Amino acid sequence: MTHLGARTAARLLAEEGHTVPLFLFPSEHEKATLPLPPSLRYLKPYLVPGETGPLSWFRSWNRFGPDFPECAARILAEKPDRVILSCFAFCYAGGTLRLAEEIKKRSSVPITVAGSGAAVYPEYFARNPAVSDVFTGEAEKGAPPAVTAGISRETPHTRTAALVISRGCPKGCRFCSNHLSQGRKFRPAPKEAILAALSTLPRDGKRLHLNFEDDNLLFRTGFFLELLEEIRRLYPGTTFTAENGLDYTLMDLPLAEKLAALGFTQFNWSAGSFDPHTLTAENRFFEPERLTALEETAARLGIPSVLYFIAGLAEDTPTGIARSLKEVARRRSLCGISPFYPVPGLPGYEDKTRFDTIDPSLACGSALYPWNGTLTTTQLYTAFRLARLVNLMKNPERVRYRELIEVVQKTGKLHTLAGKPARIIPVPEQDQGMLEEFWDCLSPLRD
Ligand code: SF4
Repeated sequence: MTHLGARTAARLLAEEGHTVPLFLFPSEHEKATLPLPPSLRYLKPYLVPGETGPLSWFRSWNRFGPDFPECAARILAEKPDRVILSCFAFCYAGGTLRLAEEIKKRSSVPITVAGSGAAVYPEYFARNPAVSDVFTGEAEKGAPPAVTAGISRETPHTRTAALVISRGCPKGCRFCSNHLSQGRKFRPAPKEAILAALSTLPRDGKRLHLNFEDDNLLFRTGFFLELLEEIRRLYPGTTFTAENGLDYTLMDLPLAEKLAALGFTQFNWSAGSFDPHTLTAENRFFEPERLTALEETAARLGIPSVLYFIAGLAEDTPTGIARSLKEVARRRSLCGISPFYPVPGLPGYEDKTRFDTIDPSLACGSALYPWNGTLTTTQLYTAFRLARLVNLMKNPERVRYRELIEVVQKTGKLHTLAGKPARIIPVPEQDQGMLEEFWDCLSPLRD
């Protein structure tokens, strides 16, 4: 987690003269495995104790960072005049409010909730007696987007930092919540602000890798290419990724070659779906020839690629998802699957009161909750595991798992590894219909 929103808000407040101790609790080393909350107990049959290996799903429900009472005590030890809690996404509303309540038990300090999670449904937070107010705007207050570079990983020779250099997107994909907190106008940050953010990173000879966390970087390609050139001039050897995804329909072969030449090390392409019917309903479209040409170019340049699609959209069907998995299976790219989760205010979820009576954790992708009623939890789970299988079959390391793959192929059932030493066991829940739709593409994958 890079906490770019909280870091940016803290910096802007500090520049206004405030003293701003910043706590990034989920990034601290402490981690605890907790029982599944009651609202997520329906996932219990899907968990495989001791699961390991390349076909595995989540094994446990974890809390990252210290427990809420400790977080509250550490915040209050700073004797704050105001506490601002950053809620990055609505699915984390429960934890945000729990922390607010722990602080309130100990102090009358005013508590503000901010962040994209709060902006989509401020009333949800405001009605909690522990919360004094909710801030729904951008920390820049109408000024151009501010930029912060957050270090996410260090090795002896490389430093990886994340940054967001734009806000908003005019494209209007139906499933996307970007516009709810950032609007529909693409607004790049000034180049000077981006370079200033990079200048705060240590300069000690380590090679720099930058991951852009923007949602639609290619909307102004000229701006982006100029920026990459400038960064490479100032920080020679810098490499880049955009893990949130690049819209491949905005890319052509010269652009792919240019991005590779400027230091892109992987292309994460967002496709949304591969079903033309679903894509039309979601305001997207599929360009298979363009995608194939881009994949071939990436392969020629030695750049790995990942194709992302969403499972569980309002128009999806189990057959359509099996077809999407087959589409990625026959392509060069790896498969990135995202179970659909809603945000209050998205099309189909405009009635926000629907979220009043449920645990916000159900809006995590990993909850596999059948929000649109088009795929069941078992079908979402099956699709996730099939995506893992697709990736294993493309992995040169797959020979290490030959026995596992053979069992899956022989039985036509999903299996996984569990225990020490690892044993091959059947996956507890799987959707037979989806498996049957999918299997006929496995033979070409076999070698
Ligand atoms: S999914 Fe990407 S391209 Fe579509 S609206 Fe969201 S940010 Fe824009």
